[in-house]
Amino acid sequence: MKTIIVGGVAGGMSAATRLRRLDETADISVFERGHYVSFANCGLPYYVGGVISDRGDLLLQTPESLAARFRLDVRVDHEVTAIDRDAKTVTVRQTRSGAETTESYDRLILAAGALARTGITPAGLATRTLRTVDDVDHITALLAGVTGQASAVVIGAGFIGLEAVENLVHRGVHVTLVEFGSQVFGPFDAEMAAPIFDELLVHGVDVRLNTTVVASADGGVELSDGSVVPADLVIDSVGVLPDTSLAARAGITIGASGGIQVDGSQQTNDPSIYAVGDGVEKIDAIDGSGVLITMAGLANRHGRATADSIAGEPGEASPALGTAILGLFGLTAAMVGWSEKRILGQGRAHRVVHTHPASHATYYPGAEGMSMKLLIDPVTDAILGAQIVGGSGVDKRIDILATAMTGGLTASALTRLELAYAPQYSSAKDPINQLGYVAENLAAGTTRALQWHELAAARDAGAVLVDVRSAGEFAAGNIPGAINVPLDEIRERLPDLPDGPLIVHCQVGQRGHTAARILSQGGLDVRNLDGGYRTWTAGVTSLSLMPTRDSNSERIPA
Ligand SMILES: Cc1cc2nc3c(=O)[nH]c(=O)nc-3n(C[C@H](O)[C@H](O)[C@H](O)COP(=O)(O)OP(=O)(O)OC[C@H]3O[C@@H](n4cnc5c(N)ncnc54)[C@H](O)[C@@H]3O)c2cc1C
Repeated sequence: MKTIIVGGVAGGMSAATRLRRLDETADISVFERGHYVSFANCGLPYYVGGVISDRGDLLLQTPESLAARFRLDVRVDHEVTAIDRDAKTVTVRQTRSGAETTESYDRLILAAGALARTGITPAGLATRTLRTVDDVDHITALLAGVTGQASAVVIGAGFIGLEAVENLVHRGVHVTLVEFGSQVFGPFDAEMAAPIFDELLVHGVDVRLNTTVVASADGGVELSDGSVVPADLVIDSVGVLPDTSLAARAGITIGASGGIQVDGSQQTNDPSIYAVGDGVEKIDAIDGSGVLITMAGLANRHGRATADSIAGEPGEASPALGTAILGLFGLTAAMVGWSEKRILGQGRAHRVVHTHPASHATYYPGAEGMSMKLLIDPVTDAILGAQIVGGSGVDKRIDILATAMTGGLTASALTRLELAYAPQYSSAKDPINQLGYVAENLAAGTTRALQWHELAAARDAGAVLVDVRSAGEFAAGNIPGAINVPLDEIRERLPDLPDGPLIVHCQVGQRGHTAARILSQGGLDVRNLDGGYRTWTAGVTSLSLMPTRDSNSERIPA
């Protein structure tokens, strides 16, 4: 059985090595059009920043090392240019000499990855992507040649753009980040992205939202707001698209999302051809739809699954949750499942919980804060997605939630997870348990909540806002028009409160919940502002960054 693999990095090489482990007799050839195989593309930004100082550390394997350990025939600088499905052959062009050969296969695995999106930055502008070893060689050489402080423009504030920004700053480069949208880190909901925006400003990044690069200018680039910013280097990180050209030319079905369509065993519409990685449409774990998610874990997992299928040991289909994490200076931002934006786009009913716990017991030194958002199906109590941003402990919590979603736990079931606790690691009620408590209270009707963006409409309809924080907290910053009744005085002041609907809030939602319980048991109509003042502030700040605001949306304080 001869297997040919197109693309020799994450998905392709996982398939190749797994197949060898399953079958010592398999004939396996890998064609890679680039000069490097199995390189650490996720590490590339950190080489630019000097965090990874040895370029050799990026090159995890060579054709020689793969031949020695796995008896793989790996050919770099070889591009597969055509597939003849009837003859079961591929045309291979040696990129350096141009020489072409024809190779036959019994099974073909397409692992060609993604290509940088084009047509967004202006034609003729000298930009560089950050996707390959050649890219980082070019970027580091260019920066090394600049006398004085170098400056760079990064276009696109997604995962790779933000990693590029962090590493350029780390290297001492002055960075302007240009983002077409009204928030940084588009996969997040706007209020959860607010701390990321702040972190960029703290580190001196010139962030331009609602802006594009329109042309090159003397010593830099011209932006759509009319300004000219300096740029020795322009990094184009506006996103990627699946590289499906080879597959499409061969009549392989491309899904509606734009990626190659595969079934649960990574098989395409041609039973001899499999596809994995960034070029492939994933099966969404929430609704089974076709979706584009370009992450290394999925490429590796699906590469392995493809080898299992080819070796006759197919496993269970593994749909994608889109679990992802970003490090940005001292901040970590992570997500799993659907964002609220996506849920709203689907018109799907949902419930939201915001919390702001500490990474571990606050009496133990070094606790760091985090903001969490959980999205829940209000009918089934299923977890639809989560986002977390903050300091230490974000990575652990997002992985717990990804595990819970994979295992089909409901939001309320998070209360019952018995998680490891000592004060330097967590709290006796871990932030995950706390999310569950809030979710369970909402599901049971113990508390009624209101989201930050619903506040203005509720007040317009006559609700009175009661801030239950201390007088000192209230004085330090408050929601305009709120009355301050500290939680510890609320029972005594119950008779003073209006009979009509009340909304209570505290700093993060917890004291507000207690206040809501006291007031509702006193017969009042009360809702707790979810996530408290902190979520509301993040929300209205994110709205203030938008170019036009809906007049029905939240008011921005003067
Ligand atoms: C800078 C950067 C940082 C990243 N960081 C993370 C991260 O932290 N976490 C994470 O989960 N993901 C990260 N990713 C994404 C991750 O690297 C990809 O999801 C993963 O590499 C996809 O694997 P793949 O095999 O589909 O494609 P790739 O790894 O891109 O490999 C595809 C290969 O196929 C080759 N090829 C294409 N067409 C042909 C052809 N016709 N003939 C021969 N060869 C061909 C290409 O040259 C390429 O080398 C990052 C990506 C980049 C660029």
